[in-house]
Amino acid sequence: MSTLRFQAIKETLNRQPIPVTEPERRSSIFGKHVFNKSAMRHHLTKQAYKSVMSAMETGTKIDREIADHISTGMKDWAIQNGATHYTHWFQPLTGSTAEKHDAFFELEMSGEVMEKFDGGQLVQQEPDASSFPNGGIRNTFEARGYTAWDPTSPAFIMGTTLCIPTVFVAYTGEALDFKTPLLRSLQSIDQAATAVCKYFDKNVSKVVATLGWEQEYFLIDSALASSRPDLDLSGRTLLGHASAKGQQLDDHYFGSIPARVLNFMRDMETECMLLGIPVKTRHNEVAPNQFELAPIFEEANLAVDHNSLLMDVMRKTAARHHFKVLFHEKPFAGINGSGKHNNWSLSTNTGVNLLGPGSTPMKNLQFLTFFINTIKAVHDHEELIRASIASASNDHRLGANEAPPAIISVFIGSQLTEVLDQLEKVTDGKLTPEEKTDLKLNVVGKIPEVILDNTDRNRTSPFAFTGNKFELRAVGSIANCANPMTVLNAIVAKQLIEFKKEVDALIKDKKLKKDEAIFNVLREYIKKSKKIRFEGDGYGEAWAKEAAKRGLSNNKTTPTALKAKISKKSIALFEELNIMSKIESEARYEIEIEEYAMRIQIEGRLLGDIARNHVIPTAIRYQNTLIENVRGLKEIYGKDFKKIAHEQMEIIEEISDHIAKINKGITDMTEARKKANNAKDAVETAHLYCDEVKPFFEEIRYHCDKLEILVDDELWPLTKYRELLFTR
Ligand code: ADP
Ligand code: MG
Repeated sequence: MSTLRFQAIKETLNRQPIPVTEPERRSSIFGKHVFNKSAMRHHLTKQAYKSVMSAMETGTKIDREIADHISTGMKDWAIQNGATHYTHWFQPLTGSTAEKHDAFFELEMSGEVMEKFDGGQLVQQEPDASSFPNGGIRNTFEARGYTAWDPTSPAFIMGTTLCIPTVFVAYTGEALDFKTPLLRSLQSIDQAATAVCKYFDKNVSKVVATLGWEQEYFLIDSALASSRPDLDLSGRTLLGHASAKGQQLDDHYFGSIPARVLNFMRDMETECMLLGIPVKTRHNEVAPNQFELAPIFEEANLAVDHNSLLMDVMRKTAARHHFKVLFHEKPFAGINGSGKHNNWSLSTNTGVNLLGPGSTPMKNLQFLTFFINTIKAVHDHEELIRASIASASNDHRLGANEAPPAIISVFIGSQLTEVLDQLEKVTDGKLTPEEKTDLKLNVVGKIPEVILDNTDRNRTSPFAFTGNKFELRAVGSIANCANPMTVLNAIVAKQLIEFKKEVDALIKDKKLKKDEAIFNVLREYIKKSKKIRFEGDGYGEAWAKEAAKRGLSNNKTTPTALKAKISKKSIALFEELNIMSKIESEARYEIEIEEYAMRIQIEGRLLGDIARNHVIPTAIRYQNTLIENVRGLKEIYGKDFKKIAHEQMEIIEEISDHIAKINKGITDMTEARKKANNAKDAVETAHLYCDEVKPFFEEIRYHCDKLEILVDDELWPLTKYRELLFTR
């Protein structure tokens, strides 16, 4: 009997919900572990407080002397709240967060003990950077990088450690993390959008991008998860026969949240409250043991930090509740995978959501301006958006009829389509007074009511307008949102800069009025970006054909998709906006291409190991039982035994057939891996892993899964799908 599997099941069946304590009111603890404005007001001198505020709001530099004041206040606050250590918290390109803890505790030469944390330690640190991915930016003999404080995201306490959000850059200045380009892109969109806002409201002096992510995930009992080496090491099951019952009945989606899970959620949400992560919504998702969590949206940099932090909190809290949280986009074949919708918009310092319709025609013209420019930006850079969400794990999801396809398109709903259709007919050049009135009354003036009516939400679209924001739905559940958000900010910033140039030119050269010029430019954008708009079923085969006709890209795999990151156009875009240099763009491409190959390599090795060490020996053991049985029958029945032993003999052969195919598959796959490893460069390696290695997975899995349903259940060593998904 397979002990680990049955032990795990027994352990799971005996679990009780872990008791949790929650505050009476969540609002009473919100942000208690964050060095937020109120904590700063208490613990900083007036001058220090003003300096941080101005750094946060306008990006001014904090001088060293003031930094000393800030660090002292921050340290006092942190120690009062139970912190003993501090760390620079950053997001290297490994995909998780990194931290190295240092104690506040210092021993002076005199033997005196004190608690120390000065401005220098707050502002800059030099972690040992040699083990983080850098895409060839740093030579190993110069493997130095430093972390620098990002005052726009407040410090917080996690456990007993004060965490200071920082950027992570090479000594030579290149970004080695997700945050640096994101911050630069936020600066770009601020400048570009503020300039455009001035057409409509001179009081606008700052625009921030906002992000509200929705995090999907699976929860599996930790004992069950550890009984599966594939889940443990690759985050997904590489084999496993489908459970007879999966998500067909939708009973999980509409059912109540299981008791153990609910306690996990309450515990995790309490931690989120303390950390100032404004979580709001929780519910079951479509697949068994799949759930979702969504916060109130925030400024994008903070929202990105909060998502990274949340994933960390979830992992830790899950362990306390004897769960393993799976962020992989496709942990189980045959049932839905997980994504992370990124709801994105732009908001002014005057409190206006630029993608929300307004109450006057002028405000709606502003809305249309940002709305149409965003569509145009996506049209011009659809391949870059696809590249920004590409990963080995997300490849399983995109285009698998549960998530948007790998083709990027924009959905806006039928009513806004009508508005754009009318705007497309605006006269070239000067408008007559009648046309202006008509536009005001019947097109621009009508928008608020239309959008309220617009309840049609196409779930199959990767980029959908949902009333007051765009929703990028193709982001993977394990991804850092910074990547797609950097791209979105960048392409819209570039687009807005061009828009402003064109409008200004029409005003200056053609002597058009401001609104006439805007209508004229928008008309052309509507025409030029038409092919990116799609209102139909994004899952259908028909769309793939239609998209090809329209000339839209359909980059199905990561190695192909990533190329857009180093296209001339993308490199120029990032350089022009000072978001990434050519070296930085190329380094990121290199890192991601290498990561892709490594992930497929790990999965290949794992699958080979499991199939040869677990599946084949088990199948042989069962086959031996059958052989024993047949031999016994022969002994009793003599030459007539075949009539009785017929079925057993067939199974014996079937088993041999599957074993042979598995074995051959693994041998061939190993050969393919060798070829991939010896390819001329990382790019070719990644393509070979994708095209030559990965296809063996399906083949090997197919035969393993067949054996799973042939072999005596008692012998099967790997916890089965029905047990992983339904044992609670
Ligand atoms: P769903 O897509 O599941 O139907 P909603 O439409 O309610 O959910 O959107 C949920 C997310 O959209 C939330 O995380 C919310 O904070 C976010 N959101 C709402 N308004 C904005 C905005 N202006 N900017 C960014 N995100 C927003
Ligand atoms: Mg959504």
